[in-house]
Amino acid sequence: MCRIATVEVATLTGFDRVMAYRFDRDDHGHVLAETKRDDLEPFLGLHYPAGDIPAQARRLYVISPLRLIPDVGYTPAALVAAAAEGARARAPLDLSLSVLRSVSPIHVQYLGNMGVRASLSISLVNGGRLWGMIICHHYSPRFVPYELRAAAELLAQTLSAQVATREQADLAELRAAAQKTLGRVAQALSSSDDATSILARERETMLSVVTASSAAVRSKGVWTRLGDAPSTEELASLPEDVLRGDPQGIVFTDALGRVFPPSEAWRDRASGLLSMELSADGEELLVFFRPEEVRHVDWAGDPDKSSSVDADGRLSPRGSFAVWRETVRGRSLPWEPWQLEAAADLRRRLTAQAMRRSADLAAQNATLERSVVERTADLTAARDELTRHGEELTRSNAELERFAYVASHDLQEPLRMVVSYVQLLSRRYRGKLDSDADEFIAFAVDGAKRMQTLINDLLAYSRVGKGDLVLSQIDLAQVFATVEQNLAVAITDAEAVVTQDALPTVTGNAAELGQVLQNLISNGLKFRGQAPARVHVSARRRETEWVIEVRDEGIGIAPEQVGRIFIVFQRLHTRTEIAGSGIGLAISRKIIERRGGRLWVSSTPGGGSSFFFSLPDAPRT
Ligand code: ADP
Repeated sequence: MCRIATVEVATLTGFDRVMAYRFDRDDHGHVLAETKRDDLEPFLGLHYPAGDIPAQARRLYVISPLRLIPDVGYTPAALVAAAAEGARARAPLDLSLSVLRSVSPIHVQYLGNMGVRASLSISLVNGGRLWGMIICHHYSPRFVPYELRAAAELLAQTLSAQVATREQADLAELRAAAQKTLGRVAQALSSSDDATSILARERETMLSVVTASSAAVRSKGVWTRLGDAPSTEELASLPEDVLRGDPQGIVFTDALGRVFPPSEAWRDRASGLLSMELSADGEELLVFFRPEEVRHVDWAGDPDKSSSVDADGRLSPRGSFAVWRETVRGRSLPWEPWQLEAAADLRRRLTAQAMRRSADLAAQNATLERSVVERTADLTAARDELTRHGEELTRSNAELERFAYVASHDLQEPLRMVVSYVQLLSRRYRGKLDSDADEFIAFAVDGAKRMQTLINDLLAYSRVGKGDLVLSQIDLAQVFATVEQNLAVAITDAEAVVTQDALPTVTGNAAELGQVLQNLISNGLKFRGQAPARVHVSARRRETEWVIEVRDEGIGIAPEQVGRIFIVFQRLHTRTEIAGSGIGLAISRKIIERRGGRLWVSSTPGGGSSFFFSLPDAPRT
């Protein structure tokens, strides 16, 4: 396109050399296309430093697109200001848009240094910006008439419009491609959780969003690398102001070595850097890298010598245009505007995702906290309820025990009186009243005696646990001997054989243990059935306790009755069958449990019973 334009302009104007010239982003420029007289040295591809066309000249080229110097050797004519009075008249006249005005003497000298005698330049303006120029040089004076100038200008405008359209189309294409890639990232975002994992999974996609060769994520102070990114030590050495600080959250450079010289050592991997902040505090970062792109630039003369100050102190343009080749190092391909747009878009998506995630987390946390609070409240309520119940139970138990004790204790005296007087009645009046009266009195005596037994038993039961538990080392064999003595009559009556194994020394209370043993052995004698009773007492060690067994070969107990026999006054037999009040086992269990042991039974109806009780070495006191 530009090449055609130069041919057209060359035909129109007849100039020796017509160049299409384009400004780079940093205002340097280079020759894009050229049409020239065959014998002339080509300028195509040459670069000209920004200083060759100063900023004010570039501004002028935007508003006044055509400039013709028919002969650089012209003699400028002085402009005579009207001799008007007042400050306004003295102000310099703005000749920016004047076609015939003289050009800067430096420019004239610049052209002269190149051997140029006539020049014509037409601006290529794109979106209000000086995109490039058509520059025509002639090596002898040359005037271009107005019509031809106008035609050349029209041509330049057409070219500008085409350039704009082409650039927009290219940009639209690049943007569309970036959007497509971003779409894939968005898809990945919906299924994944954070930048690090997306980066790992969607490696190519992420890198292609901004056309980077490698990347790294910094999360909670830890760097995760992707591709041939700088090492974690190198990453950690990057100063914070290289990585962040822009209000938009994205910083970039295509010459990292300039802003952070130590990175020169790894310029092959990271000459270009684009860093985006992913969290509000800037701690989470996603950084893209581009490798060094070594470029050779052919300058039309040493770019550092665009102009110099001559001996008279006047600024003069370069004198030499000999091609000067520069090798540009430590630079990556530049981050193009559309790539920066894509980066901003990517950053928006990633931060939105992070915010969504933290919002989700916050919501989850809140729910969790709420349920913990609720549960805790429930538990506290339940615990309070339990404590209250426990306290109530202890209180009512204590009250009951007090009642049982007081009742049985206080009833003893009047009952003794009833028993004595009924017995007196029986003795004194037996046979003196009618036979019914004798029988009734006998019933009364019997009932009163039974009541006395019950009350005594109850009192005994109530007494267990009253007072301090006095424990000492007890020789169970001795306790057994005493019990055997106490039961001597019963043993003889039952024609029983009571035997024992070696019995241990245990921690306990002799009187209480004697009571338990006596209860169990006497039950063995009582519930013997037809055969003579056989009772055997043994002991075995189990972990940290002794287990004592009192085994008989008596009538046994039905399994469904086992639960009842330990309850106060519960009996499985009538009094007439077998004597007793049903308190023995209740008292025995209370005694054993009070010192931290257990009392239980294993029995088969008709097959005898084994009563066991455990005595822990370290009793609960
Ligand atoms: P008592 O012996 O005064 O009846 P206990 O509390 O000692 O009271 O026993 C409760 C009940 O348990 C007894 O009435 C009896 O029915 C049953 N029982 C106790 N020991 C034995 C045993 N060795 N064999 C069979 N039944 C027993």
